[in-house]
Amino acid sequence: MQPLFQHEDTERAVAIFEVLNADGGIGWRRSSLYQNAPDPFRTLISAMLSPRTDRESNRIAVENLFALAQTPEMMSQLDYETILEAIAPVTYAENKARYVPLLSAQIAEWGEVPADRDRLMTLPGVGWKVALLTLWVAYGLAPEICVDVHVARIGKRLGLVKPTTQQPQKVSQELMQIVPKEIWGPWNPTMVYHGRTICFPSRPNCAQCPIYDLCERIGVKR
Ligand code: SF4
Repeated sequence: MQPLFQHEDTERAVAIFEVLNADGGIGWRRSSLYQNAPDPFRTLISAMLSPRTDRESNRIAVENLFALAQTPEMMSQLDYETILEAIAPVTYAENKARYVPLLSAQIAEWGEVPADRDRLMTLPGVGWKVALLTLWVAYGLAPEICVDVHVARIGKRLGLVKPTTQQPQKVSQELMQIVPKEIWGPWNPTMVYHGRTICFPSRPNCAQCPIYDLCERIGVKR
């Protein structure tokens, strides 16, 4: 069967990664993503609160919460109103406030944050992306490429992901056919950083982009 992508795409993906990490690399600095990381429980809570929330709001919410309770046992005892007030800066705070004590109680029962994607995904509020994020930040493990809006959008513009692919898991599968396994973990933070600083959703700053020559700019208005 004809491979979906050709070898030169792997070389191009590696070159893209190397250029974007040329200064030492946000992608390799797991601890830069979460303050005080990699404490696994704090990382898990932070990742669970992070969907659709900007980094600063997430940081404030996590700090508020951990000022009230530092262990899973203590966190599981907090009441809903107290949690809601602490995590008010994040999006969907009402739902996430319900998850916090349930998730904490389960971690207290297990005695640790499991370094296992499938077990993490049994926790309240923890889906595929949050589980992968937790594994990478807390333990440096990357069984798959974690895909969010930045990873998907930039992957398509680069021509590494088909423009029609929608589901994050399918985007991840396409990328994993090209991107070498050693950089699956830092691929997400590398693209998130690039998406926040250069390759913006509506107006990518192609003129200033360090990977301009490596990018096919699929779907980008010239
Ligand atoms: S050249 Fe433009 S579209 Fe391609 S990665 Fe850079 S900013 Fe994004």
